[in-house]
Order: sequence, then C-alpha cells, then structure tokens
Amino acid sequence: MLSCDLCNGEAVIYQRHSNRHLCKKHFIRDFEKRIKYAVNKYKMIEKNDKIAIALSGGKDSVVLAFVLSKLYGKRRDIEFIAITIDEGIEGYRPPTVEIAKNIAKNLEIEHHIVSFKENFGLTLDEMVRIGEKKPCSYCGVFRKYLLNKTARELNATKLATGHNLDDETQTIMLNYIHGDIERLARLIPQRVQEDLILRIKPMREVYEKEVVIYGLLNGLPQDMNECPYSYFPVRAAIRDFLYEFENKYPGRKFSIMRGFENLIPCLKELYPQVKLNKCERCGEPTSKNICQACVLLDELKTKLEC
Ligand code: SF4
Ligand SMILES: [Zn+2]
Ligand SMILES: [Zn+2]
Repeated sequence: MLSCDLCNGEAVIYQRHSNRHLCKKHFIRDFEKRIKYAVNKYKMIEKNDKIAIALSGGKDSVVLAFVLSKLYGKRRDIEFIAITIDEGIEGYRPPTVEIAKNIAKNLEIEHHIVSFKENFGLTLDEMVRIGEKKPCSYCGVFRKYLLNKTARELNATKLATGHNLDDETQTIMLNYIHGDIERLARLIPQRVQEDLILRIKPMREVYEKEVVIYGLLNGLPQDMNECPYSYFPVRAAIRDFLYEFENKYPGRKFSIMRGFENLIPCLKELYPQVKLNKCERCGEPTSKNICQACVLLDELKTKLEC
C-alpha cells in the first residue's frame, strides 16, 4: 500500500505534476483548493451573483455542480440554478437528463430543462437527418444559444461550465495548430459583452483524471457514455499527444495554460471586443445581422419544404 505524502494514510492518487501521493482527504482538499484558486484569480464568483450551472448530467458537470454547491452553497449572497439542454439525441441524452434531475434535487438547486424540440421544433437527431451539416455544427450553435438565452431570462449573472484543464489546453493547442488566433482570443476569461452571460470555468485548473477521481470519491454518478455523433479527429490527436507529453513531462498542461495567460494582454490588443448587434430575427446577440442559429434554422426549414 502506498501512503500519502502528507499524512501516511492510504494514497488514492499519484499526482504526477506535484510528485505526491495523496490520500482521499488530502486529494479532496487539494482539488477544492485549486477550484477556489481559479475562482478567486478571475473573480468568477462575486457577491450577489446568480450562477447558472450548465448541467448536462455528464461527469464534469455533475462534479461542477457538487463542488460549487459544497464550496459556495452556504453563502446567502450567492444563488445557484442549473440548466440542462436536451438536444434530442436518442439513447444518449435521456439517461444524463435523469442524472441531472437527481443531482439538482439532491443539491437542492432549482433546475430547468430546455429542449431543442420545444424551442426549434426539431430534435438534433431530426436536424441531422434533414440537414447537410455535421451534427456538432448544429449542436454547438443551438446549445450555446439556448444556454445563454435561458440563463439571461432567468436573470443569471454568470454561466458556469465544466471545462477542465485538459479541455482548455486542448482548445488552446487546437487554435495554435489551426493558426486561428482570433478563436484563441475567445478563450480569454471574463470578457463582458452586453446580453452575453459571462461564462466561467471553475475547473480550469484541475485535470480531467482528477475530476473523475473526485467524482468517484464523493459517490457521484459518472456517465462515461460518448455521444454517438462525437467526431473530432484533430482534437483527439491533440488530446493523445498532450496525454503522452504530460506523462513524460508532468505539469506541461499548466505551462500551456500559463503561456496562454501571458498572451492575454497582446490578444486583447489584437482583438478588442466588438459591440454585438441584436439578431434581426430573434433579438439574440450576434456579431452579424442575423445570428447563426437563425441562419441554420432557415436552412433546415428550406430543406423540410423541399
Ligand atoms: S459530440 Fe454530441 S453532444 Fe457534443 S457537440 Fe457533438 S453532437 Fe453535441
Ligand atoms: Zn493524507
Ligand atoms: Zn437569431
């Protein structure tokens, strides 16, 4: 039995980046410390915030809801609500919607389930059958649209998502590799734009593996099923490369994150924030005249009429 480097109790994890074995108590303490560090660093949670948690019911969002309510749930000046988007993916989404319902109930968080079908008249499965675009192109646009709109209508001040260190560093590297520095600038935390609910990522300083272990140690449900439409070959290659690299040279994901953070002042200068318009059709914020959700819906309606 390997023992904890801090107390000699039984170790549950070897943290490569800190070269320490940690027991359950010290791992949980360390994990939560890094959540608080990220939250404080970017002032993610402030007095009088009403925070909408994007709760898909997948492992990351479940841990996010749990840890936020554990660390900040007792504060009277902060309110949490949860929003689940049901895209309408047969066989995949219904079980996670159930998990989301249960976790919100257990944590006593007001829960709102919003579906593609009710809002756009079509499930994602139907969109995929009718349209020509890749499933994730529809899903990404419509989900972001509904999360933002619902959070705003519920008077939320922030929208918390379950992105972890692995997700963030993959996206940073993906943007470098595509040479898409404008997209890289979109990752700058805490950029305020009218009608866009400020997004916060409290788990940006913890590894995906740690999220899984934290969930297991706290007896949280872990849905490991993958979306049937998931197809990200370049991201998967970057994920595998970073995994190997991190294994050989522990802590490099933190270096990637710190490198990106050092670039933020330059990125802000290169890409100052533009004032958003209101979509001429639906009134939601967009950089164009008509938002991407309305454009995609028009395309789908035209296909339906053919
Ligand atoms: S993988 Fe599935 S859930 Fe994720 S964006 Fe694509 S279609 Fe949506
Ligand atoms: Zn210990
Ligand atoms: Zn629109």
